[in-house]
Amino acid sequence: MFDRVSEGHSTNQNIMATILRHLPSESGVTKIEYEGPYIGLYTKNPRYLLEHQELVSQLVNSIKKRIVIRTDNSIRSSERVTRQILNSKCISKSDVSEVFFDPALGEATVFVNDQNALSTLSQINIDLAEMTGWRMIFRRKPRNFKIFKEINDILNKRSDERILFYKQIGEKIFRSKLGGVTEANIVCLGGFNEIGRSAILLITHESKVLLDFGIKVYENENLNSIPRIDITGLGMNDIDAIVISHGHLGHSGALPLLFKYGYEGPVYCTEPTLPLMIALQHQFILTHKNNSIYSRNDIDDVILHSIPINPGFVTDISPDIRLMLTNSGHILGSASAHLHIGNGDHNLVYTSDFKFGMMVALDNAIWNFPRVETLILDSTNGSREDIFPSREEAEINLTNSINSTLAIGGRILIPVPELGLSQELCITLGMLRNAGKINPDNILIEESIMDNLDFYEIYTEYLSKNLKQRISNCEKDPLFTESLVPLGGKLDWSKSIALAPSPTLIDGKSVTLLSQICDDPSSKLIIISNPVPFTPSTKIMEGEREVCIGKKVLEIKCAVDALPGFSSHSDYNQTLAYVSRLKPKLRKIITNHGSGNRCHVLATSINKIFKIQTQHPSIHESIRLL
Ligand SMILES: [Zn+2]
Repeated sequence: MFDRVSEGHSTNQNIMATILRHLPSESGVTKIEYEGPYIGLYTKNPRYLLEHQELVSQLVNSIKKRIVIRTDNSIRSSERVTRQILNSKCISKSDVSEVFFDPALGEATVFVNDQNALSTLSQINIDLAEMTGWRMIFRRKPRNFKIFKEINDILNKRSDERILFYKQIGEKIFRSKLGGVTEANIVCLGGFNEIGRSAILLITHESKVLLDFGIKVYENENLNSIPRIDITGLGMNDIDAIVISHGHLGHSGALPLLFKYGYEGPVYCTEPTLPLMIALQHQFILTHKNNSIYSRNDIDDVILHSIPINPGFVTDISPDIRLMLTNSGHILGSASAHLHIGNGDHNLVYTSDFKFGMMVALDNAIWNFPRVETLILDSTNGSREDIFPSREEAEINLTNSINSTLAIGGRILIPVPELGLSQELCITLGMLRNAGKINPDNILIEESIMDNLDFYEIYTEYLSKNLKQRISNCEKDPLFTESLVPLGGKLDWSKSIALAPSPTLIDGKSVTLLSQICDDPSSKLIIISNPVPFTPSTKIMEGEREVCIGKKVLEIKCAVDALPGFSSHSDYNQTLAYVSRLKPKLRKIITNHGSGNRCHVLATSINKIFKIQTQHPSIHESIRLL
């Protein structure tokens, strides 16, 4: 009756035996199978296992492996019938906006129109699984389905390939261990003493795992724009797994390149990171047209091989490495990676970009790991001068700056990145307006920022406690986004605020908008992003009033305010506060992701203050952890 996971391996046989021993016949289990890092229990009676979660928890405790409940293929209704059943359970026919089916996992993502429909359907989730044979995930519908459609097309069309992929990855993860003394090293491939192209290779005597694989967006020379994996001599399929910390291109932008050159393994990231990084990778090839270093097909392969994992859960990703992703407070879905190596031999935390300070959209980075011996620490604001005003102060400064311009009828431009800081600012401006602190005619948001804001409204479980509370209290306009207006073509934006990329004013809509207001002394440019050396935005911040942007020279006659304090990276003091929390068990801190001499300065400061061994390696260097 049961398909065994694999034959001839005693550990696996023990796992199977334990599962079988614990499951009564009512569980209706027909198949037990590896599914990437999980063990999938396929059942004809999903109600029984879903209602007896304690049984599944006991199993997880005894086999020390994560279990997912899947429905047996034979009980799954057709997509048409499933849609009909769903509609019959809704109050209004228009409640369900779209359903995407994932046959490899037997999951259906149901996008609904409002919070009420979401609550109603979530309450009958088990009934629906029983009636349709599909496990359902309910989400608010996005303004734009494009990226979800694109991802689902791949998952749907290539489901046979994915079933095989999941099985093979499972067998690889749960393969026999080599045994012997545990060894662990990291090799610095990118993002050390620089910002962009973040990539770290973790090598143990059993496995090889890549942490991030980013790109330097404004660097044209390939050798300096992508991680130096060439120095490792590794074949693509020597790599067991890739962990992506968050969607920014500096951390995920070169990932499709690995697939172009033959990588066929898994990519682990949080659920929101997948659509966010895919959207930015698509944008990247559109911007680079014929010069792009990878194609749409390579991005499709990223989708096919991605395995989203929930923060806070420990997951086996190779025979001797267990991964836990935890909120890093930087952008939606951003995560630090906690890697448990061997049998409690070593614990490594890679913070990636993190915020240990107050934000509106997201909670503080998680710091209370059970154990951390080595920390790889984001040094974006590693210099002693990188100390920003408190968030409260920053909000007062922003409010005053906006009001002084609105009072004389001016226009306000805030150049921001497409993802992260921009959504934080959208929610902040909405909140300030809601509280009556600012009263612009319009808050205009460029389209790509608006699209990314969608993800914040869909993956609400990743938002700050305050915003989640507003949602669960069914407060009107819980994310303060309803009054934001998409930035259209021709418009009169007097007495209005406009948010547009890019923050550096090198290109993008912010440049067009700046050219509209730069002559007008009653208008204002507000710079809130971290300065990037030699860019127009930084030159203006430093006082230059004639700047060359593209082929044009702009004379800046409008007012300019630089308002730090909104950064989605920890400032110098916040970085030290985070280290201070982790201090008792730390043996070593390795600084990365810092421009100029920031990695060096931060390493020196930490060593002096906390008496912890620190290193600030460069690309090519390798560091022994164990
Ligand atoms: Zn980032």
